[in-house]
Amino acid sequence: MFIGHYGPAFAGVRAARSVPLWVLFLSVQAVDIAWGILVALEIEKLRIVPGFTEVNAFDLYFMPYTHSLPATLAFSIAGGAIYALLARKEQVLGGVVVGLAIASHWFTDLLVHVPDLALWPGGPRVGFGLWQHFWPAMMLEGALLLLGFVLYLGATSPRGLVGRVAPLVLLLVLAGLQIIHVTAPPAEDAASIGLSSALVFVLLTGLAALVDWTRRPASPSPRG
Ligand SMILES: [Zn+2]
Repeated sequence: MFIGHYGPAFAGVRAARSVPLWVLFLSVQAVDIAWGILVALEIEKLRIVPGFTEVNAFDLYFMPYTHSLPATLAFSIAGGAIYALLARKEQVLGGVVVGLAIASHWFTDLLVHVPDLALWPGGPRVGFGLWQHFWPAMMLEGALLLLGFVLYLGATSPRGLVGRVAPLVLLLVLAGLQIIHVTAPPAEDAASIGLSSALVFVLLTGLAALVDWTRRPASPSPRG
């Protein structure tokens, strides 16, 4: 899953309005940033098998340190705790939301991956395999993203015109990257796939930080 992960990131702002969008962009892809780096270091492994699924050609046969359930939960607890320690307000709520955002990665991957997500390192692997069906997989990612995006727009208000435009630009960048992701021929070697993925996720975090600048938390409506 790629852009669908950002649905929970946008939705997180609705759940805890003091948490910056960029923190949530980083959180939902924390597991994949670590994965990209570990793949580049040849600690976690993938094989490129053309036609492996309808959406991509990656046989993700070894990723216990990032995509096993216990590893994901460890990322989630650590990330939530770090946020709670550093935040100036809504420490507990913010920490919980950041932890849930990190964990959401595994559960949204679960919908699309073929069974390659270990319940524990060396244990049974799960994955509902929606990547075997191109359009349903794309629709799921788009729906998750749009749902979160709408919640985000409702939870924040623009600082002037730039605040109206910036989130739409971010949405278009995400959609464009998804099209490139599913149409471009995959890189030849695993290391460059890992590095380029991690780099894209970090750059998107930077773009989210720019959008943060252009919007502020909406005051809750009097009707609640
Ligand atoms: Zn992943």
